[in-house]
Amino acid sequence: MKTMGLIGGMSWESSIEYYRIINEATQRKLGGLHSAKLILYSVDFAEVEVLQRQGRWIEAADLMREAAKSVERAGADFVVLCTNTMHKLAAEIQSSVRIPLLHIADATAQKIHARGLHKVGLLGTRFTMEQDFYKGRLMQHHGLDAIVPSEDEREIVHQIIYEELCRGIVSPASREQYISIMTHLIQAGAEGIILGCTEIELLVKQGDVSVPLFPTTRIHAEAAVEMAIAVF
Ligand code: GLU
Repeated sequence: MKTMGLIGGMSWESSIEYYRIINEATQRKLGGLHSAKLILYSVDFAEVEVLQRQGRWIEAADLMREAAKSVERAGADFVVLCTNTMHKLAAEIQSSVRIPLLHIADATAQKIHARGLHKVGLLGTRFTMEQDFYKGRLMQHHGLDAIVPSEDEREIVHQIIYEELCRGIVSPASREQYISIMTHLIQAGAEGIILGCTEIELLVKQGDVSVPLFPTTRIHAEAAVEMAIAVF
């Protein structure tokens, strides 16, 4: 079994889900007392959030590079960056280490293709919904058309992530808002919806909407297990 190098803490509310899903999937695949070999480098999310909000991406890249190098030095065979947003810095992270980065959008795109879908809604932070690093990769590498909510709705989705979900607050009122926003995406032609922020699956579940959901924490965590046991 290979050793995973998780970069987490963004936020720890989702990192703990990664840890649980990775170990459950490893146990399911290998049976017995098997659990995952992994190294976790967990950052202080308050520091990261300030850098994101102030657009200080060069400093954020330094932090991410240091984390990636650290898990590589500790013996990781590949890197799992436990947040969609910080994949904005995927190229910087990848170029700082010799081990591969398992990209969250690639793992998610594979699942979307497996369902035969081409047009999907994308929920995430404003960075993920509005910038090209995620939507662009889905289109250029995977031929997927990702549509996003209106500007007002993007603000709601973003605020609920930072003000609630990353602080462990799961509110029924926010769930209703997300369901309404997802319904608008479906009306706009989304055949499925990417929960493109690793905390969103704490709030909404498959039963909440009529189209397939793509929960990126679960998808990424399970892809990491596949990668780890590929040569076991
Ligand atoms: N966990 C979130 C994501 O997947 C947001 C936190 C962050 O900005 O890293 O994008």
